[in-house]
Amino acid sequence: MPDCLFCGIAAGQIPATVVLDGKRILAFRDINPQAPTHVLVVPRDHFPNVAALAAAGDGQLDELVSTARDIAVAEGIDATGYRVVFNTGQDAGQTVEHVHAHVLGGRPMAWPPG
Ligand code: 5GP
Repeated sequence: MPDCLFCGIAAGQIPATVVLDGKRILAFRDINPQAPTHVLVVPRDHFPNVAALAAAGDGQLDELVSTARDIAVAEGIDATGYRVVFNTGQDAGQTVEHVHAHVLGGRPMAWPPG
């Protein structure tokens, strides 16, 4: 998708600190981390949000969530707890229109989110 930031990162055209480089999935550190661990997990293919990814029904959503778990284990935040967040749409604060799971951990978190 032209002009999509995360398509550019997935294509290697925009630099990022990549922590997992898979065939269909990429994970990289958020440029503005909100927790000691803050990794974004994205499909290489362009989907605007998690609803569109779910509708594709080709296993990519399962793979994305499984990868989020793998990242949590690799980052050592699985034992104490972590959050997987899909901001979806304007009111949720989605700013990049390429589906991404935030994997956040390494500190206690409050609920509800702001
Ligand atoms: P959203 O607000 O859409 O749920 O999340 C977008 C995330 O992308 C934000 O947490 C933001 O910090 C991150 N982000 C924005 N631009 C870049 C970038 O150029 N590189 C990386 N690694 N993360 C970015």
